[in-house]
Amino acid sequence: MFQHCFAPRPSEIESYWKHVEQHCRWFDDHPGRQAANKKRLLPFCLYGDEINAFKNAENGSICVLGFGSDLAYGNPALERYYLFTAFSEHNSTENTFDDIIRALVPRLRYMFDETSFNWCSAGWRWTYSSTQGDLKFITDRYGLHNFRKNRICDLCECVKKDDNIAMTLADFRETAAYRATHYTHQDYMQSTTPETRSPLFELDGVNLHRFLHDPCHGQLLGTGKNTNGSCLTYLCERSYFAPWPERGIYENVMSEYRVLYPSMAAKAAQSKMISYWLAMVAGDLAARADATPTDKAVSACIYAYVDTLRKMDEYPLLLSEEQSNELYNSGMRHLRLYSYLHRESAKRTGTEVMRNCWLLQPKHHFFYHMCRDCKEQRLNPSYYSLLTAESWIGYIGRVSRRTHRSTMTARTLQRYCTLLFFRLKRIERNISI
Ligand SMILES: [Zn+2]
Repeated sequence: MFQHCFAPRPSEIESYWKHVEQHCRWFDDHPGRQAANKKRLLPFCLYGDEINAFKNAENGSICVLGFGSDLAYGNPALERYYLFTAFSEHNSTENTFDDIIRALVPRLRYMFDETSFNWCSAGWRWTYSSTQGDLKFITDRYGLHNFRKNRICDLCECVKKDDNIAMTLADFRETAAYRATHYTHQDYMQSTTPETRSPLFELDGVNLHRFLHDPCHGQLLGTGKNTNGSCLTYLCERSYFAPWPERGIYENVMSEYRVLYPSMAAKAAQSKMISYWLAMVAGDLAARADATPTDKAVSACIYAYVDTLRKMDEYPLLLSEEQSNELYNSGMRHLRLYSYLHRESAKRTGTEVMRNCWLLQPKHHFFYHMCRDCKEQRLNPSYYSLLTAESWIGYIGRVSRRTHRSTMTARTLQRYCTLLFFRLKRIERNISI
């Protein structure tokens, strides 16, 4: 049962750690390196998010914190993450989250070091691996990667605006100046004090480079919408589907169609399907004899995007050198073309096609970090996708909605334990069959 919940494929544990030891710098001085039995070492991940539990209520959002094992990917949501706590924003101050983390750190240390737990007798040990959550959560709760500031990134000196274009997020060339300013975990620890950084950093094994904000998901729901929208607008304006009509008609079309076709509201899965379709039709436009250079750039840009997504879906967790290079190259090709189209779009005025398209966002910069990490560490980023986590948080949200606001935390945990109890019973039955 323990194995099912935390490492459903036990044969991959040792190869995972071997791979990490060889390719990942964050593991160099990691406490997990000293573990005696790497066949039974579990990578611990801390996951947090916010959810709106009380509809139509002010301060109705709750903050949820849970954990899981990085190797339990593929498990259903309730068998992938396990609840630590949930608390209402209504009952908290700006210090509450840090207080919880401060209380959690010694407990986690105990969980990793103590050897009297019943799972330890079977050789299982935990070690800290990653902190997960969406970009907004990582920024708000751990004070990292503040995408609202000009200096958006804590991993390098990239900025939104600067006189030197090579320091800005629009530059995705291999020669971009910010690429030489890579910050290590030690740099971060030296440039901050315990008061200014999250108390989570007091825990051994917590690393700046292991705050994973699910860039894949960030792409599908964040930048993917811009890519899709810009590409679709361009195809319409180029009269690909039908002659381009008078201006002003589209506002009505959009407002009506959004109700008729919920996929226009773009959840992750739909956003991906739309990207695949757009890549196909943009490719068709670019293959015409009278295709313009911009037609070709648009087509190549969206093609590189879906190619990156497809590779992430197809490749295994541990990538070969060739696979990691291919992923890096197609991801960076997409970013460079996107940035080129962004510049082209900014030059257009009046009624010219492709005005106000291809908006550049901080998430594009984190897509670059994902590609770069992928090349260096050869871990498939799609395994850190938070799609399962989102459905897990949905469960917690539904549970907490049934509770009274004043006793929300205690009642949510009670109800969650009941839910988990029946789930574990079911797993037990399935295992014994
Ligand atoms: Zn950066």
